[in-house]
Amino acid sequence: MHQTKYIFVTGGVTSSLGKGIISASLAKLLQARGYRVTIQKLDPYLNVDPGTLNPYEHGECFVTEDGAETDLDLGHYERFLNACTTQANNVTTGRIYQSVINKERKGEFLGKTVQVIPHITDEIKYRIKLLGSKKNFDVVITEIGGTVGDIESLPYIEAVRQLKYELGSTNSLVIHLTLVPYLAAAGELKTKPTQHSVKALLEAGVQPDILVLRTEKSLGGDIRSKVARFCNVEQDSVIESIDVSSIYEVPMLMQKEGLDRTVLRKLGYPQNGEIKMDEWVDFVDKLKNPETEITVMLIGKYTSLPDAYKSISEAFIHAGVAHRIKVRLKMINAEKIDAENVSRQLGEAHGILVAPGFGERGMDGKIASVKYARENNIPFLGICLGMQCSVIEFARNVLGLKEANSTEINLKTPEPVIDLMEEQKYVIDKGGTMRLGGYPCILKKNSKVYEAYKINEISERHRHRYELNNKYLDQLESNGMTATGCNPETNLVEIIEIPSHRWFVGVQFHPEYKSTVLNPHPIFVSFVGAALKYSKIEK
Ligand code: GLN
Repeated sequence: MHQTKYIFVTGGVTSSLGKGIISASLAKLLQARGYRVTIQKLDPYLNVDPGTLNPYEHGECFVTEDGAETDLDLGHYERFLNACTTQANNVTTGRIYQSVINKERKGEFLGKTVQVIPHITDEIKYRIKLLGSKKNFDVVITEIGGTVGDIESLPYIEAVRQLKYELGSTNSLVIHLTLVPYLAAAGELKTKPTQHSVKALLEAGVQPDILVLRTEKSLGGDIRSKVARFCNVEQDSVIESIDVSSIYEVPMLMQKEGLDRTVLRKLGYPQNGEIKMDEWVDFVDKLKNPETEITVMLIGKYTSLPDAYKSISEAFIHAGVAHRIKVRLKMINAEKIDAENVSRQLGEAHGILVAPGFGERGMDGKIASVKYARENNIPFLGICLGMQCSVIEFARNVLGLKEANSTEINLKTPEPVIDLMEEQKYVIDKGGTMRLGGYPCILKKNSKVYEAYKINEISERHRHRYELNNKYLDQLESNGMTATGCNPETNLVEIIEIPSHRWFVGVQFHPEYKSTVLNPHPIFVSFVGAALKYSKIEK
């Protein structure tokens, strides 16, 4: 029988050390050696999914093809592996408890006291193994969110301990990521936090097999030996992860450090097979040597936390590389923009993007930004709420419907150009109830989007409740805004364009979720191309 092997990635000392990027980089290296790999994220919070979280709490909510609202790390997994993840790739404590409690109510544990051990830990183990068995993966990398020692992480670490014991040492291993801080006053790198963090893992019964040490300065042989000796790991299992300017350099860095070879050796796989990293290396080379730069301004309301727009920023990196340029993405708070200052605020933009979002805050600034882009013929991309803003702006200022609005913003607007979708009218619960995931869309020929995709049927991911009100479509189209993409079953308008404009596209879906290193998204590539052309025009 096919044996799936399991790698667990835990973190110590502090959060934000980049467990997601280390997991994705290792997965990339194993994939480049021909293994079937997937990555899973276990999040120790009680929300069933991050869909109900404010982006300021946890960064962007990433949406998978099958419509799961997930942690933003899944975005990194997809961008690195160029493969889709699913609901099963992200599990939260909320989801674990929900299913255990549902089973209890059904009577599945009849007569028993339901407890964290074994019931919660069994459910965690089940979710981990389910992913491996589902698609016959060779390796499943499971990233445990949070930091070792947190109360919330305990059941996960216990599940890892049990699985390691059940699977045996060649079928499982634990990688622990820690920080080695540099104390400028002492002029030294300090290993004590790592030693303590490994101790915390050992107290929970888990001996890490590999340590990845995040550091701003190179470690040197002495520090590596010291860590190996004090933490009971082999010398080749102490891996340095030095700060780099781009996350896309990390797979090569890990390859240089031999992380993949150590993992293969420990899992009993051959270590000298071929590794295909050429395309990746080429991407990083272009990324580091751009021929020129352009500026794109992103107008949104979560701009003080760049993680809130992670997939959009990454999509611009991919599209920039496709043109061999660097896209400087400036995020501007929509609340700071008004009709008076818009030209000052956006004057340097070669492209303007109005971001996805919810609610009224910042709407005026977003609409003013659309108007500025439309009237000044500056390449414009509106995503989801950004597309809805572009329709509202056009209705108000071209069709003369001064009170045009979305019913999300003003329930009583006399001109609801954006309105709640029929299927949403009776929805009460907030969690997981939007129109989510991949839906088909047919493109019109002779459009910017058809030029970009070069095919006429596409599928893109969604996360919304409102849509363009088709009652206004004729009026919009006869005045210069056309629907160039529609859902073939529902006729829902997915894309609008202004053909007389240099490049003006609004999309109801989220193209950013599908952009990867090896497959930069056609809409971003086309938008950046238009912005690049515009940057070269004498103004
Ligand atoms: N709030 C809008 C809707 O629900 C747009 C959502 C979004 O931008 N993701 O339709």
